[in-house]
Amino acid sequence: MIDITLPDGAVKKVPEGTTPMEVAKSISEGLARNVISAKFNDTTVETVTPLKESGTLTLYTWKDDEGKKAFWHSTSHVVAQALEELYPGIKLTIGPAIENGFYYDVDFGDETISEKDFPKIEKKALEIARGKHDYKMRSVSKADALSYYKEQGNEYKVELIENLDDGTITFCDHSTFTDLCRGGHIPNTGIIKAIKLLSVAGAYWRGDENNTQLTRVYGISFPKQKELTEYLQLLEEAKKRDHRKLGKELELFTFSQKVGQGLPLWLPNGAALRERLEQFLKKAQKKAGYEMVVTPHIGQKELYVTSGHYAKYGEDSFQPIHTPKEDEEFLLKPMNCPHHCEIYNSQPFSYKDLPKRYAEFGTVYRYEQSGELHGLTRVRGFTQDDAHIFCTTEQLNDEFKNVIDLTLYVLNSLGFDNFTAQVSVRDLDNPDKYIGNTDDWEKAEQAIIDAAEEKGLNYVVESGEAAFYGPKLDFMIKDALGRNWQLGTIQVDYILPKRFDLTYKGSDNELHRPVMIHRAPFGSMERFVALLLEHTGGNFPLWLIPTQAIVLPVSEKHEKYAEKVLNSLENHEIRALIDNRNETVGKKIREAELKKIPFMIIVGEQEEASASLSVRRHGGEDLGSLSVDTFSDLVTTEINSTLKSF
Ligand SMILES: [Zn+2]
Ligand SMILES: [Zn+2]
Repeated sequence: MIDITLPDGAVKKVPEGTTPMEVAKSISEGLARNVISAKFNDTTVETVTPLKESGTLTLYTWKDDEGKKAFWHSTSHVVAQALEELYPGIKLTIGPAIENGFYYDVDFGDETISEKDFPKIEKKALEIARGKHDYKMRSVSKADALSYYKEQGNEYKVELIENLDDGTITFCDHSTFTDLCRGGHIPNTGIIKAIKLLSVAGAYWRGDENNTQLTRVYGISFPKQKELTEYLQLLEEAKKRDHRKLGKELELFTFSQKVGQGLPLWLPNGAALRERLEQFLKKAQKKAGYEMVVTPHIGQKELYVTSGHYAKYGEDSFQPIHTPKEDEEFLLKPMNCPHHCEIYNSQPFSYKDLPKRYAEFGTVYRYEQSGELHGLTRVRGFTQDDAHIFCTTEQLNDEFKNVIDLTLYVLNSLGFDNFTAQVSVRDLDNPDKYIGNTDDWEKAEQAIIDAAEEKGLNYVVESGEAAFYGPKLDFMIKDALGRNWQLGTIQVDYILPKRFDLTYKGSDNELHRPVMIHRAPFGSMERFVALLLEHTGGNFPLWLIPTQAIVLPVSEKHEKYAEKVLNSLENHEIRALIDNRNETVGKKIREAELKKIPFMIIVGEQEEASASLSVRRHGGEDLGSLSVDTFSDLVTTEINSTLKSF
């Protein structure tokens, strides 16, 4: 008999060789019906793998990320089989699960496939799935595995197998199909009820552009047709909210091949939006005791060798700039932290001076492969709302709480109300992975947990997720489409103060090492604006939106009055425009709707006679006839309801 420990701590005594599915059955038939994959002692296993020793077993259903992963990976085998049957002679390479679905990289030879081929591939794959074929793993010797794929002339699988050790190689069979695979499958293909291919793209074998270009087929699958329908609706909505599309429509930013890819150009509307975000944060930071600093866009290579960033970004990023005469080497700044450490080092501090909080909207540059670039979310140059706090260990808890307050203020003011926090701590089984002394780590981890607790955050503690140089707290934001974004990291750091030899004089008159906190509530202005666009669909909070109101004269006759209205709106500090083109009001309204302008102010005969405005809200609500003062009060009230003072 062996002991199987379940996640709730319960221990089941079962005969050696019992499978995870049998354990599920012994708990309940209902559970067994839903179990689709399992993990045993940190290793993914099949639901039919005989368990040979005592250990911890986790059973997964479709509701778990691990369950979805097994489901999607298993579907990739089915799709691969469908492709092989439809396009004989193709060469399969790899087919992993991804965050939403799976892909399979295929060498189609002379054949090309496009979206119009998807229906027949989906149909074939579903036919196979309906056969309820079991996924069966089997071990093969390296020699047999190699000869199997050499016979097929599949040099990709041969290369994969050559890099594996004999004795560790497994094949997975289902139906008439066999694939090289490590495992992690659902029990049988019959559970897959809906399959949808989503796109095709080029992908180099092993991500290396010197290799053959393969075709990557993306897809997703579900245990119910209804779930696929819902997912496709969500995708449609996401397309409408794509920040690249909205950024163009709202004239916020652009890219130029001449300037260079991955380098956003902010248009006047976007620059004004950014400026307002910056002012908003600067104002709150000032109250929170931060001091603004400014540092250059480049720094000597030595600076980043000292900080350790050269080891991380150096070789694989932008290469050093050389001066013509002195042969100095400068790097484009990948991080602001080293510069801020040198600001701290520019004068001596005593414990009474701490904490020091240096903030900067600092632009940094990091190389990303052109294929990885994506709108504003993956760029080569971006501006962080960065700050570094230098404090004593005793001050850590208070400083952490202050940063949490500031981050919560930012999230609330921008309409993010669905988020959780994650505290990342050490993996206590691997203490060698971390630098710094145990005592500091314990204090820092406790300070973060206490701060999260005292601030009433909904948080989870993840062990092993800390950086090697210190524990951290991240905010996980759920956007309006239910997607997760990591934001507002607060990172404790022991290594930079040491590398830059930062000190302060303690009450004992001895020199001590301060602790450093890195924090950026927005992360970067670029990524944050992208998130904000996709979360709000371009309907930014009223305090932030570039144009709050647009004046629409009914005809030329009323242009004078419209100008007067515009003037008085501006006097009330309302950001307004006028549309006095010779177009119908209907057309002007439609265009203002597309531009997501919150208020449309229509002025004609009646309004002019009564010195009033007819106000229409974005989306169609008619607010009736208002005076400029009443309208201005309405705008102020609405702004104050979201934008509180810090
Ligand atoms: Zn597999
Ligand atoms: Zn930093």
